[in-house]
Amino acid sequence: MSGTPTGDRLVLLGSKGGPAIRPGGPWPSSSLLEIGGRKIVVDCGLGVTRGLTDAGMNLKALDLVFITHLHSDHVLELGPLIHTAWTAGLSSPVAVLGPPGTGDTWRHFVRSLEFDIDIRIADEGRPDIRSLVRVEEFGEGMIFEQGGLKVFALRVDHPPVTDCFALRFEQGGRSVVFSSDTAYFPPLADFARNADILVHEAMLEQGIERLVAKTGNGARLREHLLASHSFAGEAGRIAADAGVRELVLNHLIPADDPEIGEADWIVAGRKTWAGALTIACDGLVVALADGKSPGGEIA
Ligand SMILES: [Zn+2]
Ligand SMILES: [Zn+2]
Repeated sequence: MSGTPTGDRLVLLGSKGGPAIRPGGPWPSSSLLEIGGRKIVVDCGLGVTRGLTDAGMNLKALDLVFITHLHSDHVLELGPLIHTAWTAGLSSPVAVLGPPGTGDTWRHFVRSLEFDIDIRIADEGRPDIRSLVRVEEFGEGMIFEQGGLKVFALRVDHPPVTDCFALRFEQGGRSVVFSSDTAYFPPLADFARNADILVHEAMLEQGIERLVAKTGNGARLREHLLASHSFAGEAGRIAADAGVRELVLNHLIPADDPEIGEADWIVAGRKTWAGALTIACDGLVVALADGKSPGGEIA
């Protein structure tokens, strides 16, 4: 479970599903994937900046960010992350890859911060943050290739959002797949075939009713959850069909119900999945297994 500081690793920075936060509870979706020497940010829910620094990342090294879809629990802190990195001394290019609309999200952010950005350029001599960031909007297929790192996207089932993508990262014979937000979606098993780690979103049946009661817009929320998200047992079925090495249940719904603990998630996942099973929590480090590089290639 715990990785060495220099090894390839996945850090679940924010592990809850949905944008609301509550006292003592976990934070929305963001992850840090360190693979083949690259530090890759996957999703930028609230708390991503704090999570990255807690994970030991120097924000000046930020250069590659992927957004799976534009729900706020995945993108709210995209702008603030890059802006904060910029105030911490970032002066090299940052690539942001996301679904259609990501460019507008970024442009509207820098527009809203125009006063601060312009004054820091004039007063502190910083480079123009607007020219440091390149946003690329993607669809399905191979969306990124650089230095042995390949990234693939698959449209998943997250109504009413149509541009929502699972992501597969491959480097040096290792692979990590993120389901993004999705209802049970069998094609994901092919997409995640033989991955070292599948990070799959998960709901727990017995917690949904209490969550719906707490949030206050009952029927509509329940409807959205059931149509757009997966139960833990469904995530386990995808992992089993894909033959992955390890399943990480993430984007947990509910995530801050005192009556639900790790043991409940494990019981639910075990109904369909017998392999390595990890339940995400904020800051959890998952090491990537060694020795899988084909042909001894060092990537
Ligand atoms: Zn979400
Ligand atoms: Zn979503």
